[in-house]
Amino acid sequence: MSSSSSPQALNPHALDPHARNPQALTTRNIIAAPKVLLHDHLDGGLRPATIVELAAECGYHQLPSTDPVELGRWFVDAADSGSLVRYLETFDHTVAVMQTREGLLRVASECAQDLAADGVVYAEVRFAPEQHLERGLTLPQVVQAVLDGFQQGSQVAARNGRTIRLRALLTAMRQFARSREIAELVVAFRDKEVAGFDIAGAEAGYPPSRHLDAFEYLQRKNSHFTIHAGEGFGLPSIWEAIQWCGAERLGHGVRIVDDITFDDQQQPRLGLLAGYVRDRRIPLEMAPTSNLQTGAAQSIATHPIGLLTDLGFRVTVNTDNRLMSGCSMSSEMDALVEAFGYGWDKLQWFTLNAMKSAFLPFDERLDLINDVIKPGYSALMG
Ligand SMILES: [Zn+2]
Repeated sequence: MSSSSSPQALNPHALDPHARNPQALTTRNIIAAPKVLLHDHLDGGLRPATIVELAAECGYHQLPSTDPVELGRWFVDAADSGSLVRYLETFDHTVAVMQTREGLLRVASECAQDLAADGVVYAEVRFAPEQHLERGLTLPQVVQAVLDGFQQGSQVAARNGRTIRLRALLTAMRQFARSREIAELVVAFRDKEVAGFDIAGAEAGYPPSRHLDAFEYLQRKNSHFTIHAGEGFGLPSIWEAIQWCGAERLGHGVRIVDDITFDDQQQPRLGLLAGYVRDRRIPLEMAPTSNLQTGAAQSIATHPIGLLTDLGFRVTVNTDNRLMSGCSMSSEMDALVEAFGYGWDKLQWFTLNAMKSAFLPFDERLDLINDVIKPGYSALMG
């Protein structure tokens, strides 16, 4: 969005009226806390009712249900099923209703509104333009529709007293061959709120180095990119993403724990790659609930995010796919508080990690940290 106003630090009226300083870690207070989101898929965060309405408008008749409540449940169940085929099917339905300017604009606008209502003050939302061409839109038209939607949604949110700043990340699908073209699109839109590039899709069999051309092009253009790596596939994927392709951040990166062992005294020992990732402060875009669904972890309590946080990796908390995971930034934070007993200090640490790692100019990151995030958490911590 192009609004120059700064997000509000904290709306005191949003706090739990029964709470005192330090404010209790209630869901309501966690929603009121300023949060930063770096890894959220536009096609994974639609409102079920919007899917139903857009499907009717564009003549898409393959939804598993046209009842929004039932449909919402179907998405979470399908993503939970453990079947990759059913999981991927969920995106067929969301992408199907995002093929027109109107559809994309509405989805992007509601994304901005929903994130703002959840207390997200800065978000980088990603999507793959190449997946939205079925009804004749061009790649630049797809990007413009989403950016217009973000702007519209942020304006609606601002009218409701919630200020959010949004940037788009353009994703290339790793199983296809359009990554260079999408990388060029990132550069073409760099002055219009497109902050970076990503590759997504099945990891196994599609290593990041397959898209080296795109990454080298972006490096020559001084452009930013993150890479989905170490989610479904292990260390080789992470190693390639960083050491071959030059990724600034890792999408998930959960499997970096495979390079951490424990000695007889149960003291952790970092392998060379894990040590490099930690010491270079390479941000991990972790999404606990989503990782449970894809089998990267068994439970939040045993999710590597606990160990990686203890070891001082630059951990960030993310939603990935809000619709399929039935989650929000607040619910993810809530789940971590529940599983690990984290307090406000840790939630602030995750938020500062994310803000420091954003693909936003340094001065803008600093402003958000000093004007919004730190005052927000100070009010909560007392
Ligand atoms: Zn993702």
